[in-house]
Amino acid sequence: MDKYECEECGYVYNEAKGETGLNIKRGTTFESLPDSIVCSVCGASKNKLVKL
Ligand SMILES: [Zn+2]
Repeated sequence: MDKYECEECGYVYNEAKGETGLNIKRGTTFESLPDSIVCSVCGASKNKLVKL
C-alpha cells in the first residue's frame, strides 16, 4: 500500500487507512479513486497529490 501527499497542504492519503472524512474505505488504492476526488483538507484536485 502506498501513501500520497498533497503538494498544497501536506495532507497524506494512506491507502491502507483510507479516509473516513471522504467515505473512503481502508485499502482503497489512490488510482481507483475517482478523478473528482479532492484533498480532504484544502480541496486541491487529485493531481496535486503525489506518491511518497
Ligand atoms: Zn491539501
